[in-house]
Amino acid sequence: MGVTRTASRKIIVVGQGAAGLAAALSAAAAMHAAGLAIHITLIDKASEDEAGGNTRWSPSNMRMASPERMEPSFVHDMLEATGSRGDVSYFTRLAKQAPATIEWLASFGIEFVQPAYYLAKGPPRIQPVGGGPVLVRQLTRSARQAGVAFRYSCVAREIVTENGGITALVIEQDGTRRTLPADAIVLACGGFQGNSEMMRTHFGERAETMRLISPGTRFNTGDGIRMAMQLRADLSGDWSGMHAEPVDARSDNSAPVVLVYPYGIVVDNTGRRFFDEGGGLMHETWERFARATHFELPGSIAYAILDSRLFEIADYQRAIRSDVAPMRAETLAELAKLIGVDANNFAATVAAYNASCSGDPGSFDATRCDGLAAAPKLQPPKSNWARAICVPPFLAYPLVGAVAYTFGGLATDDHARVLRDGAPIPGLFAAGEITGHFYATAPNAVSVLRAFVFGRIAGHEAAGSSVAR
Ligand SMILES: Cc1cc2nc3c(=O)[nH]c(=O)nc-3n(C[C@H](O)[C@H](O)[C@H](O)COP(=O)(O)OP(=O)(O)OC[C@H]3O[C@@H](n4cnc5c(N)ncnc54)[C@H](O)[C@@H]3O)c2cc1C
Repeated sequence: MGVTRTASRKIIVVGQGAAGLAAALSAAAAMHAAGLAIHITLIDKASEDEAGGNTRWSPSNMRMASPERMEPSFVHDMLEATGSRGDVSYFTRLAKQAPATIEWLASFGIEFVQPAYYLAKGPPRIQPVGGGPVLVRQLTRSARQAGVAFRYSCVAREIVTENGGITALVIEQDGTRRTLPADAIVLACGGFQGNSEMMRTHFGERAETMRLISPGTRFNTGDGIRMAMQLRADLSGDWSGMHAEPVDARSDNSAPVVLVYPYGIVVDNTGRRFFDEGGGLMHETWERFARATHFELPGSIAYAILDSRLFEIADYQRAIRSDVAPMRAETLAELAKLIGVDANNFAATVAAYNASCSGDPGSFDATRCDGLAAAPKLQPPKSNWARAICVPPFLAYPLVGAVAYTFGGLATDDHARVLRDGAPIPGLFAAGEITGHFYATAPNAVSVLRAFVFGRIAGHEAAGSSVAR
C-alpha cells in the first residue's frame, strides 16, 4: 500500500458497518504513515449498542476461493449476475484488492474459515469467525486505538460544500443540529430498505410493509443517497433491485431463513404452487421466491411443504435458521387445516405434484442440481429435487419475504469517489450498500466483501493517499 501525499485532513465517516469501519481504519493508517495528526470521526445514527447496521447481523460470507485467492471467473461472474450492466473496472479492482483486504482484516485479529451454509453448493466463500458481531467489535476497538473518534445516536443530515468542494457535514445529535468541519466525507450508511417512502417509490405497493431481515437493517434509510443527490451526484445500480430471502413468518429472530423449500413444494394461501422450487441452486432462486411471495401472493405469505424425508438429508438443519419447529401433521388434510389453506386445492396440488414425480428417487441429491425433474406436464415445473411428498409426518413452514438491502445507489468509480456528471466530487467518497453496482440479482456473498474493499480504498483516498493498484 503506497502513501503518496501529506496534508492533514479532517475526515468524517458516516456509518459503522463494514464499509465505514474499513474507511476509518485505513484513513487512520494512511495518516499515521504520513506522520499526520488523526482527525477522523465516525458517526452512526444508532446507539452504541445497536450500531453496525446490516454488518452486525450478517454472517458475512465473502465470495473467495480462499483468504488468499479469488475465483478466476469472479469478474465474469459479476457481469453475468448483473446482466452485463456491472462496471468492469469496479469489479476488477474488487477482485484485485480482495486478498490484500482480507490479509489486512486479519491484522486486526479477524480469522477466516470456509463455511458450510445451506445445502445446495454455491460459489466458494470464506467467512470471518464469529461473523458480523465479531467484525464490528474487533474493528471498532482497533479504530479507537488508532485514534478514530466515535459519535453515536448522531445522524448525518446534510453535506456542506463551497466552490464545489466538501467543507462540512451537518449532523443531528440529542435534538441539536451542529456543523462539523470536514475536508473529506465517506458515506457508508447503507441502502434505503429502511425507508418506507423510498421503498414504495421504487418497488410499488406493499414495499413499505416488507419485513426487514435483521434489527440492524432499519437504520439504512437512504440518508446518504439523498444527501449526495442534493449535490447532484450521479446515480447507479438497479433501482428496482433488492436482495430478499424467505424467512419463517412466526419467528421474531434476525434472519430466520428456511432454505429447504427446494426439497418439497411451496404453496400460496389458496393451496396452489406458483413457482419452480427447484429452478436452480439456493442463491439462484431465493431472491425471486421471496419477492414473489411478498409482492404477488395473496396475504404475502407462502408455505413450504415437506415430508419426513427432510430429516434424512444430511445436515438439513444447516439450511434452517428458524428457532420455531415446523408445523407437522400425520395427514395432508390435517396439515391443510393447520396452515389454513383450502384442503381440496391443497390435496389436488400435492396429488398432481406426486403423480409427476416419476424420476428415480435414488438420484435425489440435496447438495447439487440433481436433475431429478418432475414430468413436463407439471405446471409450474419442478426442475430438480422432485421427490413425492408421501412419508408422514408432513411438515409446513409459513414463509414471508424479508429484504436485506437495495441495489439503487450512488455512482462511484474504482477509487470509491462519488461522481457527478461522470467526474469525482472533490472530497466525497462512498462504499458498501450505498453504492449502486448491483443489477438484476444480488451476486452471492459479495456485499460485505465489496464494502470492505471499497471502504478501505475510500479511507485511503479521503486521507489523501492511495491504495497501490
Ligand atoms: C442477516 C443478513 C445476512 C447477510 N448475509 C450476507 C453474507 O453472508 N454475505 C454478504 O456479502 N452480505 C450479506 N448480507 C448483506 C451485508 O451484510 C450488507 O450489505 C453489508 O454488511 C453492508 O455494509 P455497509 O457497511 O454498506 O452497511 P451497514 O453495515 O448496513 O452499515 C450502515 C450504517 O450506517 C448507519 N447510518 C445509516 N444512516 C445514517 C445516517 N444518516 N447518519 C449516521 N449513520 C447512519 C447505520 O446505523 C449503520 O450502522 C447480509 C445482511 C443481513 C442483514
